[in-house]
Amino acid sequence: MPVTTAMSSPGNGNMLLGVMGDPIAQSRSPIMHSEALRALGISGEYVSLHITPDQLGEAVQQIRTLGFRGVNVTIPHKVEVMAYLDEVDESARDIGAVNTIVNTNGWLTGYNTDGIGYVRSLKTEVMPTLAGTKIMIIGAGGAARGIAAALLKENLSSLVIANRTADRAQELAADFSGKGSVTGISLDQFGDHLDGIEVVINTTSVGMYPCVNDTPVDTSLFHKGLVISDLIYNPLRTRLLQESLDRGCRIHSGLGMFVYQGAYALEYWTGRPAPTEVMWQTMLESLGSSCKD
Ligand code: NAP
Repeated sequence: MPVTTAMSSPGNGNMLLGVMGDPIAQSRSPIMHSEALRALGISGEYVSLHITPDQLGEAVQQIRTLGFRGVNVTIPHKVEVMAYLDEVDESARDIGAVNTIVNTNGWLTGYNTDGIGYVRSLKTEVMPTLAGTKIMIIGAGGAARGIAAALLKENLSSLVIANRTADRAQELAADFSGKGSVTGISLDQFGDHLDGIEVVINTTSVGMYPCVNDTPVDTSLFHKGLVISDLIYNPLRTRLLQESLDRGCRIHSGLGMFVYQGAYALEYWTGRPAPTEVMWQTMLESLGSSCKD
């Protein structure tokens, strides 16, 4: 039975929100969501919660006890947290990971907004329609899984997943085989599969601060007009994106994904449209003050 809590619904006093992870000090979610709450005129707090794996079960229980309206969940808890929830939405079940929990009178539902946040960003910023396109994802980790699930809802022509560990790419492709044309290959073969590809998405952490001189693939194989997308947003312009831009490609950074995954979460919690422009601006200012771009 759901437990009734005093502060678990919007408009009922101070809205408590947060993000659980380990480590968590680096998270920019508190600053982005605090500004968003302010812009919406909602009285509330969004706090960082440093939760180690052995504390996870108790921490989820505390969402109910303390009356949090919801939390985001980040590394390393996105998969394990599902075992402690009352319900896991189809969006998160398909992916096998939760990044957003909503507390409705003590009943905890898990969602995943990473993939849909990414697709909203790609469509808003670069490609309004993805139907019929051929896309390649580099990497086969958690982020790749969320993005593949969301992209495959867009009626792509085909999806190729290229990963350093080829087995993981093939496993991911097999998991989604019922949802469209999906192939898993080794990253070494990526050049052989670029023909007809319109968007290449880096979902690995290669090139992220502080290793900004690294790049996951050889950009000399990219042609003019290709869209190169990178999930990394620190730096905003990775070496991969800069080299691709120099070759005449269109580029897309990971900042939009971060903003929109947060926007969808906020919409679940508040039931109101998220102030995405405020969230975007807050992130740019936050990154501008520390980003080593
Ligand atoms: P993950 O589950 O650990 O997966 C990492 C992936 O990167 C794996 O496919 C791994 O390949 C590959 N990889 C790691 N080092 C590599 C290297 N040196 N060369 C080639 N491939 C390498 O991580 P994740 O959770 O998917 O996150 C990946 C990235 O996405 C991170 O940079 C994260 O910050 C970013 N991200 C951004 C957002 C956003 O809002 N913008 C949201 C989520 C994640 P193997 O399988 O061979 O190990």
